[in-house]
Amino acid sequence: MSAKPNAEPIPFIDLQTQRERVADRVNAAIAKVMAHGAFILGPEVAELERRLASYVGVQHVITCASGTDAILLALLAYGIRPGDAVFMPAFGFVAAAEMTALLGATPVFVDVDPKSFNLDPASLATAIAEQQHGPLRPAAILAIDLYGQAADYAQLTELATREGLPLIEDAAQSFGGTFQGKKCGALAPIATTSFYPAKPLGCYGDGGAVFTDDATLAETMRRMRVHGEGEEKYRFQHVGINGRMDTLQAAVLLEKLAIFDEELAARQRIAARYEAALRDCVETPQLMPEARSAWAQYTIQIEDRHIFAEKLREVGIPTAIHYPVSLTDLAPYADYPTAPGGTLVSERLAEKVISLPMHPYLKEDTQDRIINAVRRIIT
Ligand SMILES: *Cc1c(COP(=O)(O)O)cnc(C)c1O
Repeated sequence: MSAKPNAEPIPFIDLQTQRERVADRVNAAIAKVMAHGAFILGPEVAELERRLASYVGVQHVITCASGTDAILLALLAYGIRPGDAVFMPAFGFVAAAEMTALLGATPVFVDVDPKSFNLDPASLATAIAEQQHGPLRPAAILAIDLYGQAADYAQLTELATREGLPLIEDAAQSFGGTFQGKKCGALAPIATTSFYPAKPLGCYGDGGAVFTDDATLAETMRRMRVHGEGEEKYRFQHVGINGRMDTLQAAVLLEKLAIFDEELAARQRIAARYEAALRDCVETPQLMPEARSAWAQYTIQIEDRHIFAEKLREVGIPTAIHYPVSLTDLAPYADYPTAPGGTLVSERLAEKVISLPMHPYLKEDTQDRIINAVRRIIT
């Protein structure tokens, strides 16, 4: 074949263009931290917590070292322990299952909705009902907002309230999204997020946060973040973790938060262009009526996705698979219980999903190249 025009590789997520945009302000902010030297829980951490609280619309934000630690803090705050069943989607990132298992509690895998990719309330209800007759104590529901869209917190809240179970929102991918007029991070009594560089709001390393309106839970999580500290130094009151966010990362995030809404608007625009150009030839993502996604990923569904990915790769277009296996098919989690009807939708999605390049700095002509290549391969 003749040399392909426009085949130079494009990045899956372009962090460099954003880096150039904020470089001066971020470098100045970093220099300021180097000068004051409060590398642990410095003033930028408190400032970031205030800004995040007002951004999301919650009373308390506790920043922490990663999105995974944020989940651990939430589980610790609810006292999750061996014998507890924590209900979570079978399709999603591993952190929820991992932290539950690490505490000696039991992840119970629930199926997801084929349209939203998020926790299916019907599957959840049957899973809770079944566990009520077993040896485990139903202890919490941990929902994941996959690819940027909130789970259905209207139904989940109703179910959690009826069953008397704490509800946790893993908003690592949905930070910036909304559901029924509320921001993701404010949709459950405790929500968690991640500032891993590739997330919608990312720092330059690891970082995370927990969000809550509950002062008591906030206080517990603040203590847990620093080894379960008490009122006085070294008089530890709980078994906790070293889960603090570095001041340097907080300083970076403050600068990135300032341009975040503009970036979200760009993501919406790009998602709308993909939808308009691709909906007649592939299964594009579907949003609930009152949901606005943060578009952490733009994920379509395709049979024979490996051939599809290979053909895109040949013309310089990267793709990614989030996630190639359901949690129930991962060796460390394969023996945990599942909802009575099984997790067939999760297993099916794991075979079909594939994500196209998505980031706020994707230019229209580059996106057109992706769209044209996808259409050429599919049709
Ligand atoms: C990234 C991610 C996490 C973990 O965040 P880290 O900051 O990498 O620890 C947890 N849950 C979901 C859904 C994620 O996408």
